[in-house]
Amino acid sequence: MIKDNLTAIHQRINNAAAQAGRRADEITLIAVSKRKPVELIKEAIAAGQLDFGENYLQEAKEKITELSGQARVHFIGSLQSNKAKDAATLCNMIHTVDRLKLARALDRHAQAANRSLAVLVQVNVGREERKAGVLPEDAEELIGQMQDLANLEIRGLMTMPPHRANQEEMRPYFAELRQLGEELQKKGLIATNCALELSMGMSEDFEAAIAEGATMIRVGTAIFGAR
Ligand SMILES: *Cc1c(COP(=O)(O)O)cnc(C)c1O
Repeated sequence: MIKDNLTAIHQRINNAAAQAGRRADEITLIAVSKRKPVELIKEAIAAGQLDFGENYLQEAKEKITELSGQARVHFIGSLQSNKAKDAATLCNMIHTVDRLKLARALDRHAQAANRSLAVLVQVNVGREERKAGVLPEDAEELIGQMQDLANLEIRGLMTMPPHRANQEEMRPYFAELRQLGEELQKKGLIATNCALELSMGMSEDFEAAIAEGATMIRVGTAIFGAR
């Protein structure tokens, strides 16, 4: 049951937050519903879940149409500039901005739709060759170049660190994202009018992410089952 899974996740969030001396309500649970039918999303909504994560634009589009405003949809998949229009007009937040061309395309379509679009910059903290995300040392330059994109609100950073067998080994990656985020916020480059968002942590490692300051966790399998 989705409802029971959500209850169990909230319990884990509460425990992890308490252990870190944080408030559980600082942490937004994003239920990752990629490749799961819209019926399961509706079941989660009925159980009180509000935020959902989707990876594929066409799939997201169909679900958003079907849900007609009952859910907030976060785009967490890789995004091509030529698909920026749907992403910018349909989604509530884009977590995967990692290059200027994409940022510009999103800004242009957000402007055309007369809206302000919340985005996160994806950082490849593990410096993995095949993973998306700007390298940590290049983040400041990219974000600097994004400053004059008036229809983007850069709320914070997102990461998908390398997989490690135990959560403790993930913590340095999560800590690195937080430190980078805080540094960029201090420089007035991100989250200038809001709290810094750090989107990090999934089904298997979100406790470690919460210990290191995650404000958004993206949980799929533990809510909807294996894909
Ligand atoms: C699929 C996915 C998740 C959820 O992963 P689970 O291990 O199923 O919790 C989180 N973030 C991103 C970017 C994903 O693609």
